[in-house]
Amino acid sequence: MNPVGKPGKTGSLMPVEVALARLLEMAEASRIVEREFLPLAQVQGRVLAEDLVSTLDLPPWPNSAMDGYALRLADWTGEPLVVSQKIFAGQAPEPLQPGTCARIFTGAPVPAGADCVEMQENAQVQADERVGFIETMVMGQNIRPQGQETTVGELILPAGTRLGPIEQGLAASLGCAGLHVVRKVRVAVLSTGDELIEPGQALGPGQIYNSNRVLLCSWLQRLGCEVIDAGILPDNLQTTRAKLGELKGVDLILSTGGVSVGEADFLGIALREEGELALWKLAIKPGKPLTFGHFRGVPVIGLPGNPASTLVTFALLTRPYLLRRQGVQEVEPLKVQVPAGFDWPVPGNRREYLRGRLENGRAIIYKNQSSGVLRSAAWADGLVEVLEERSLEQGDSVYFIPLSEVLG
Ligand code: AMP
Ligand code: MG
Repeated sequence: MNPVGKPGKTGSLMPVEVALARLLEMAEASRIVEREFLPLAQVQGRVLAEDLVSTLDLPPWPNSAMDGYALRLADWTGEPLVVSQKIFAGQAPEPLQPGTCARIFTGAPVPAGADCVEMQENAQVQADERVGFIETMVMGQNIRPQGQETTVGELILPAGTRLGPIEQGLAASLGCAGLHVVRKVRVAVLSTGDELIEPGQALGPGQIYNSNRVLLCSWLQRLGCEVIDAGILPDNLQTTRAKLGELKGVDLILSTGGVSVGEADFLGIALREEGELALWKLAIKPGKPLTFGHFRGVPVIGLPGNPASTLVTFALLTRPYLLRRQGVQEVEPLKVQVPAGFDWPVPGNRREYLRGRLENGRAIIYKNQSSGVLRSAAWADGLVEVLEERSLEQGDSVYFIPLSEVLG
């Protein structure tokens, strides 16, 4: 059975893509323009601030793709050829003497006058050290031409590219010792809740350990952000005001908790007093309530406190926002379509992101999908997207977002 669509019960909830579009618009309007020049080894996870244009041809000269013999095809008549030089990688060869061949090794420059390399497995060295060839050869074979990969002036990586090991390797191949990158986004992380204490302390009555703080701080670091760990904020207006006032010079205040309906929303009150506030009810599960606002001009994102809600709203909304603030265009994770390995009989009015795994090519889901259960995400390899107002049977198609796509 294909996913069944029922007319909108989603009603007043904001669709995920609308929330994302709004966040990205705001990120675009406050793009970070400062940049810094960093040694190539330090650019991992950062965003390129200007186009990288090649100043080289790659390879810079034709070179051999094989260990073998370089020759001019027209010189091969079937009579063995004298070996007139030996060329190793890193050497500058003489032009090929007409009527001879050159012993050549992988990566070595092909001498001027040669137009073909035959691999050593197809060569027969005679008693007199001349070399014959046993296979038909064609012009250009086993030669990597100059500029095959890149030519001078070509755009290699556009500004806004996220840099990782592959981009670092590519920049190195072009001789770049460093790159201009967008300066780090400075993110202050706040955990709100009277019930929270830090690991290492003894748990008192009614208390729980703060898991969101370390989860977000290390995730932000993986995203190339500078993290200002602002600790735990009690559910109290005075402290909330004072703490927000202390957070100067940051690009984003990211808080968790305190945004659920019904709870005294001190963050919201503080934002209303000295900034602006939008409270969104999103068609997303886990993670319905989300706060976006400004405090004295600094953007604030308030995520719901349940750890799985924090995770999903950070992955799908905050991460793209942070990347776009650095100028990244492609901010949404790759999704792959896979058959569901589970039934989903009752449609929901929010888009669900179930913590799941791929098993034999099918998406299966963790047994407990409660938004308080972070263990579901540790078990999972990805988020299984079930659209609002849909039911599913095993074998129906669902989107799977690998966690590896969003964690870095
Ligand atoms: P809230 O969004 O503040 O209503 O919190 C929703 C649920 O998430 C409550 O059960 C909280 O105790 C829990 N929670 C909030 N913040 C955290 C946190 N930093 N670490 C672990 N659980 C949290
Ligand atoms: Mg709370």
